[in-house]
Order: sequence, then C-alpha cells, then structure tokens
Amino acid sequence: MSEPTRGPGDAGDDTRGDLAPALELHGVNKVYPPPTTVTALADIDLVVDAAETVAITGASGAGKSTLLSILGTLDRPTSGMVRIAGTDTSAMADPQLSAVRATRLGFVFQQFYLLEHLSVLDNVATGLLYRGVPAGVRRERAAEVLRQVGLAERMRHRAGQLSGGERQRVAIARAIVGRPAVLLADEPTGNLDSATGTEITQLLAGLADDRTTVVLITHNADVAAAMGRQIHLRDGRIVEDSHPYPAGRDRVR
Ligand code: ADP
Repeated sequence: MSEPTRGPGDAGDDTRGDLAPALELHGVNKVYPPPTTVTALADIDLVVDAAETVAITGASGAGKSTLLSILGTLDRPTSGMVRIAGTDTSAMADPQLSAVRATRLGFVFQQFYLLEHLSVLDNVATGLLYRGVPAGVRRERAAEVLRQVGLAERMRHRAGQLSGGERQRVAIARAIVGRPAVLLADEPTGNLDSATGTEITQLLAGLADDRTTVVLITHNADVAAAMGRQIHLRDGRIVEDSHPYPAGRDRVR
C-alpha cells in the first residue's frame, strides 16, 4: 500500500508545527478592483523560515506594502495561497484570521502609534490586552520586554516624553510582548535619524536570536544589508532574492 502524499492545501497542513516555514506565499496575485484595476502583486512565491530576517526593498509602487499586508493577513490575495506556520489561511473567516494575527504576528510601523498620555509600561502592556493575560502579569511581561529593548529606565515615563528612537523601542516592545513568531515592520526606521535607525535595526536583527522571524520594508540600504536576506520587488514581482531557498529546505511546491 502506498503512503499518502500531502500537497499544499491538503487537510492536515496545520500539523506541521515548528517544522513548517514561518510564512509561505504560493502563486500569490493581488489585483485591486476597478476603477484602478492595478496588479500590485504578480505570481509571488516566497518561503520565509523561522528566525530569518528579511528586508523587502523596491521603488514606490513596487508592491511592498501590499506584500506585507498579505503576509500579515491584513489583506487577502486575489488568488494564491498564504500559509502561516504551515496553516492555509485562505479558508479562514475574519475572526479566525484576527486570532492568528493576535497570537502569531506582531506589527511595527513608521509612525509609532503610541498612546501618548499612558506610561511606557502601560503602552507595552496593551500588546497583551486581547490575550486573556491578567493585568498584573501583563505589566510584569511588559517590564521584562522593556528591559530587553533597553528601556528599563523609562518604564514610568509617559510615551509623549520620549525621543523618536525610544518611541520606536516601545512600539517594538509592544509588538513582541506577546512573543509572536513573526514581526512585520513597515519602514521602522523611516522617521529616525541614521544613528538611531542603526540602533533600531540592530535591535530588530537581534530578535532572530530568540527565534523571532523579522520581515521589514525599507528604503535604506544599510537597514536592508543588516538583515539576513534581501528581496527586491519591481512592478509587483520579486526580481531579486538573496536566499530564495532557505538553508536546508527544498522548495515547497
Ligand atoms: P509600495 O509599498 O511598494 O509603494 P504598494 O503595495 O503600496 O507599493 O502599491 C502597489 C501598487 O498598488 C501601486 O500601483 C499602488 O498605486 C496600488 N495600490 C495600493 N493600494 C491600493 C488600493 N487600495 N487600491 C488601488 N490600488 C492600490
């Protein structure tokens, strides 16, 4: 009797657990509807392994934000498959997708989106608000992560009193306090001077040591070079990929 074979989309994908890549796109297209009917992504295949750090570069309009939104399940592709930790997301309803985002993904943006009047500690603790963690534990974990990002001395300050670099550290702490497998960042150093940007880049690259996968969009060549892998988009296609097949893994298709 032959062994059953398993392909993309078969039932049971979600049993692949930690062996599965962190993120997978297979044959992904994104066409924005009329009247514009722009093809923002065309036939994207992308496999990102756990603990990879990936920079997405490309000119304005190349499709970077669309790609990050689809990787983060904030938007759905027009066609193709998106898997998060081996689980196909295409059949998931919105509440299920929200649960995937809340438990597996963290987000960081160019604008920090902090609650200015709240303390740094409480801003970070809000990252655990929807995970059923009691308030006391939320604060303990927030304090732990703030130490990790080098803000132990600033916990009681109001977010509005911090410098740009400190604010981005708070935003990163808030994104990782729930220990997401993947951190997605859209121009995280875009609002920072170059020295501060370098610090934040090092902080993000260092997250891979804790097995966090990092995917970020950047226009800055130094930021891109600090990531382990560089992907360049042009007109919605991947035209360069420094490590197209993650080490030790055959192409999953
Ligand atoms: P980038 O982040 O590289 O600047 P985007 O992903 O924002 O690129 O955009 C890719 C293409 O899709 C662009 O041509 C853009 O104008 C178009 N686009 C982005 N968002 C929308 C939208 N909501 N509706 C229609 N077209 C869009």
